[in-house]
Amino acid sequence: MDKTYYLITLETASPLVLSNRPSSGDSSVFHSLEYIPGASIRGAFIQLMKQLDKYQDEVAVTKEVKDLFVEEGYRFGNFHPANSSLLPLTAVSCKQFPGFVSEDFEKNHGVRDSLLDNYLNTKEYNSASFECNHETEGGKVCQSPLLPYDRPITALEDYQLEGFLYQDARLVNKLQTGHIAIDPITQTNKKGHIFFENTIDIEEIFEGIIEVPREHKAVFENVMNINATLRVGSKRTSGFGMLNVTNCQEVNERIPTEGNPSLNKSLEERWKDFQSLCREKNVIKQDEFAFSITCMSDAILKDNWFRYRTDLTKDLLENYTNLTIPDFTLEYSQVSTKQISGWNQMWKTALDDEVGIKVGSSYLFKSKEGSDEEWIDLLGKIENMPIGERTYDGFGTVFVCHPFHLQMEEV
Ligand SMILES: [Zn+2]
Repeated sequence: MDKTYYLITLETASPLVLSNRPSSGDSSVFHSLEYIPGASIRGAFIQLMKQLDKYQDEVAVTKEVKDLFVEEGYRFGNFHPANSSLLPLTAVSCKQFPGFVSEDFEKNHGVRDSLLDNYLNTKEYNSASFECNHETEGGKVCQSPLLPYDRPITALEDYQLEGFLYQDARLVNKLQTGHIAIDPITQTNKKGHIFFENTIDIEEIFEGIIEVPREHKAVFENVMNINATLRVGSKRTSGFGMLNVTNCQEVNERIPTEGNPSLNKSLEERWKDFQSLCREKNVIKQDEFAFSITCMSDAILKDNWFRYRTDLTKDLLENYTNLTIPDFTLEYSQVSTKQISGWNQMWKTALDDEVGIKVGSSYLFKSKEGSDEEWIDLLGKIENMPIGERTYDGFGTVFVCHPFHLQMEEV
């Protein structure tokens, strides 16, 4: 199906709570997610569409929703804080002095990627690849252990002058709000029932991509214009979760690149860079190929026996993409899993929990077959079709040969 991509900017007009899970089992504090799931935006969009088209009967609306929003048609990506981006899970930094190298050179010891290092370690153990390589005054090497670096990042303002350099992105502002429970019989407060929510503050900006079927462009633009207000998240009846649409523009890419301009590189460039570094570092021989696939959103992978999978093998990839791919092997992966739960607003029932693969999970592959042209063509197709289950919910966006995987020196 031919699709148009829209980059949508949303601003919170009232506090936003995006999850109803307490921070731990018996806690009464609820934390909001740091991003807005695509499925929440989709629900709000359908609601708005129905309001604007009051005369359609419920049966026609249900059919339209099924045809356009499930399986085929629209795809709502997750909305992340504007101008920020997440690094792959393989990004690591010094345990003692974590953070990007700044002008204040001694303060932070830099962030680098560990995918290729970790793979090489499975061949030949090299303890230095688990340590911080930063040279302190007097030429000493820091040698502290490394920890994953999972903070959102953004590009330095003058990155064009200095190449692609990163810094930490500003974190979303949070508010703590609280409420008590009211006893239905006495109509007074129920003893021992007080709840707190860590909510996202007002005037926070979020950005995401919505894929729209080309023949539905006019309807989409009519609903999603800069006067529109979406309602998402919990406690909507108490005024929470109002989002104003502040910008809506057609774009060419399915991943916002503002927070990390290196994602703007063409697949040819990324492929070439990947091959040359992998050959230089002896990850592959001269006549072999290597590539990585990085999850840019959470993904759900299942095999033919409905088992959840975390390994992205040839069978699985061919199954999901319907492509015939030359022989390749999964050599190394760095994957985190998460529980994905949900709620069906229409039926007022909980969705079955699923096991997903976390955004940032990374896979390294090797192949002895094919040619540069063949691989670039195939991987371009894979990048253009989200893989796995529930892709219409925004799951399974992948990126091939992520440039940060080549960042083996601290930046
Ligand atoms: Zn260090």
